[in-house]
Amino acid sequence: MTYAPIHPDLADPAAALIAQEDERGAHNYHPLPVVVAEAEGAWITDVTGRRYLDCLAGYSALNFGHRHPELLAAARAQLDRVTLTSRAFHHDQLGPFCAELADLAGKDMVLPMNTGAEAVESAVKVARKWGYEVKGVAENQATIVVADGNFHGRTISVVSFSTDPQARSGFGPFTPGFRSVPYGDAAAIEAAIDDTTVAVLIEPIQGEGGVIIPPAGYLRAVREICTRNRVLFVADEIQSGLARAGTTFACDHEGVTPDMYLLGKALGGGVVPVSAVVADRDILGVLRPGEHGSTFGGNPLACAVAREVVRLLRTGMFQERAVELGARLSSQLSALAGHGVVGFRVRGLWAGIDVEPRIGTGRQVCERLAERGVLVKDTHGSTIRFAPPLVIEERDLDWAIDQLAAVLAEG
Ligand code: PLP
Repeated sequence: MTYAPIHPDLADPAAALIAQEDERGAHNYHPLPVVVAEAEGAWITDVTGRRYLDCLAGYSALNFGHRHPELLAAARAQLDRVTLTSRAFHHDQLGPFCAELADLAGKDMVLPMNTGAEAVESAVKVARKWGYEVKGVAENQATIVVADGNFHGRTISVVSFSTDPQARSGFGPFTPGFRSVPYGDAAAIEAAIDDTTVAVLIEPIQGEGGVIIPPAGYLRAVREICTRNRVLFVADEIQSGLARAGTTFACDHEGVTPDMYLLGKALGGGVVPVSAVVADRDILGVLRPGEHGSTFGGNPLACAVAREVVRLLRTGMFQERAVELGARLSSQLSALAGHGVVGFRVRGLWAGIDVEPRIGTGRQVCERLAERGVLVKDTHGSTIRFAPPLVIEERDLDWAIDQLAAVLAEG
């Protein structure tokens, strides 16, 4: 495929496209200067024909790789039938999708939405309504306990309980009703709970926070505290779930079942945006017609692709692959400890890697890796997130870590 320069002054197609995006698109992101044209599996090709290994996987939306053939086949088959009905009518994919996803999670029901932030918003609404109607919390008094360093999305209510000044600054006034406590501290959760508390909302692993894995026993303790205090345990598994952490859900590592799973990203197979709240009937049953919804939530195309995602997860192959490759990654990162890596955390095929600050900021390390053909993304300070598609080949994973070692060795 050839790309004609859009801007007459810029012969380089990548530069021309970046200039156009800068000029006409809002600047709410700071992407690496790579302009993607095509992708397959773990590999991306840019507009100049250069290939890169994708070690970010759309923040885990691409757990199954780019354009997984079975996901594409499901999408194509549905494109030829019907793509959108709105929820004004029934369609033949929604019931099977809800049943199959609920069964995967061991729950009764599914509330389908589109983006992750919408799933979080929906869970907040459901938890509050459950609090008023089932638990008997006084009207408009419901509180939800969250964790410092959280990332649950970008809507007003969701940034209202962010502890990241960049996410909040300039966006007030904020939605009340949230209490934030240190992540990993179960006693702090218990201390924050009172008669108004309807839910505890946490990420089982904080992805955007830098792949922060809580101390062993934390999720079990949260489960126990929530049960004892009659508070809903809401696990945001939007990034941690669906095989990334080596299990279907990251909560599985502690054998813990939350009251609500929030899913997104990989649920749409990297093809369409699909998110969901998954819970039992005594919780999701609080919603009645007219109280919540979305034009695109649960559309036929989304459901068809997500059904195939659930089928792929049912094979267990992706969870297994994440465990195998994660062990390999862990031992490779151990070898880099003291050689530019000051710390790292791995769960499944998902790593937060803290680079010695003298080597550069996370951004600079990502830029140098991109020059070498490896795409990753920084998070706070000198931490980089490493989460390739679970279909990555061993030799490609090894090559990516070799490139990281080379960047670190350059100093
Ligand atoms: N929750 C978690 C844990 C996330 O990591 C993200 C996105 O990174 C979200 C929610 C928001 O998802 P979306 O960007 O689809 O709104």
